[in-house]
Amino acid sequence: MTEKIKNISANEFEEEVLKSGSVVVDFYSTECPPCEALASKYDALSEVYGNDIKFIKIFRQENKELALSLGVTSSPTLLFYKDGKLVGNRLTGGIKRSEIMKNLDLLIPEEKVVSLKKSFKKSETNCDVLILGGGPAGLTSGIYSAQAKLNTIIVDKDLPGGQVKVTHMVWNYPGYSEPISGYMLMHHMAEQAKGAGVNFRSAVDVTGIDLVNKTIEIDSVETIHAKKIILATGSSPKQIGVKGEVEYKGQGISYCATCDAKFYEGKHVVVIGGGNSAIEETLFITKFASKVTIVHQFDKLQANKVAQEKAFANSKIKFMFEHEPREFVKNGSTVNQVIVEDLKTHEYKTIECDGVFIFAGMKPNLDDIDNRLTLDNWGYVNVDANMKTNIDDVFAVGDLARKQYRQITTAVSDGTIAAITISKELEA
Ligand SMILES: Cc1cc2nc3c(=O)[nH]c(=O)nc-3n(C[C@H](O)[C@H](O)[C@H](O)COP(=O)(O)OP(=O)(O)OC[C@H]3O[C@@H](n4cnc5c(N)ncnc54)[C@H](O)[C@@H]3O)c2cc1C
Repeated sequence: MTEKIKNISANEFEEEVLKSGSVVVDFYSTECPPCEALASKYDALSEVYGNDIKFIKIFRQENKELALSLGVTSSPTLLFYKDGKLVGNRLTGGIKRSEIMKNLDLLIPEEKVVSLKKSFKKSETNCDVLILGGGPAGLTSGIYSAQAKLNTIIVDKDLPGGQVKVTHMVWNYPGYSEPISGYMLMHHMAEQAKGAGVNFRSAVDVTGIDLVNKTIEIDSVETIHAKKIILATGSSPKQIGVKGEVEYKGQGISYCATCDAKFYEGKHVVVIGGGNSAIEETLFITKFASKVTIVHQFDKLQANKVAQEKAFANSKIKFMFEHEPREFVKNGSTVNQVIVEDLKTHEYKTIECDGVFIFAGMKPNLDDIDNRLTLDNWGYVNVDANMKTNIDDVFAVGDLARKQYRQITTAVSDGTIAAITISKELEA
């Protein structure tokens, strides 16, 4: 922690925060990975803004009453004060440097912001292996690479853990006789990588990527040069291009059951899709919703047999086979109607509902990465048996790479192969 940051307790809050002009307050906890991810950014920004803005830290566990009175229920939480009044946004979770700066800039005059920005110092870092993406594939590469004593950095635009950290329960990862929550599985994997010596840059903006020269710039301030790069950025839910989908995302249209199913207690939900994810996630949604209608374009489900059996045995789930959504309609604050077309009769029907989940497959996360990579017909990165791409010293692993099955086990397998190949090449 720098000298520009002051750690205070609840009884100093009034004097140090409410009566002190421009102040930023960080409510933190111990054993809190997002707090660790924030600490280095908070330190660095205190060096730049610290003469104009007071940087405060409050240990949340020992100042619970104060935290609760301010509505602070998770760590870290950043609050921004000007002359005793809250301004800007309350930031929590994986907090980016750019988000903090946007709020700090509200606390000082515009001319000062311009002059401070000129004083930013850029830094250069060298490493052996740079891994872009900290899901199961990237973390596994990191574990193997750091254990081979290679200087390894994992860069993620979010907190580590990938898609699995928001998957409710994982039933098929070897080594766990009982299902494990996706969050805990990824917590263990990230801790293992950290213990092996991996350095993390988490919740960052990736502001430049040059795969040919093996450099990645983060937050416009740090350029990392690597001998080898492993791309492990995974994939994201596909949009289906139906009217209302984009406009009402977050207002009744969701792509993540773990994140949003709890908002549908006792409600009627429509699920679009019939593959593995759609059925697994529907089963989870039925813990909350009173009814789920699955709208699927084919005449049968594509999910595996076990998932199908569970779905057909669940009395809350109804099926509309050979139907496709044509429009999501919002009357009031959330989507409450889905217009579907019967693909056999071409008749349009209206389903009254309280919300919609879309599980229509995934697309690789390659935006802004490098258009010199060769891709397969579906846009996934072509790799050889050692996970090498067409660009020298650049590897691709996990869901991003061309393959038939995308699972945690196949992602960790790819990560292993890439890291062992790299360690052998760098030893030679
Ligand atoms: C709803 C759902 C349920 C699932 N359930 C299971 C299951 O039960 N069992 C199973 O085996 N598999 C399951 N899967 C599949 C499994 O989650 C994936 O196969 C696995 O997560 C792939 O790992 P990955 O590391 O390749 O990618 P991801 O897990 O997607 O991780 C990619 C990481 O890269 C980061 N990233 C993305 N773009 C950038 C960028 N430009 N710069 C920096 N970082 C970036 C992301 O923030 C993320 O942390 C499920 C998938 C879904 C969608």
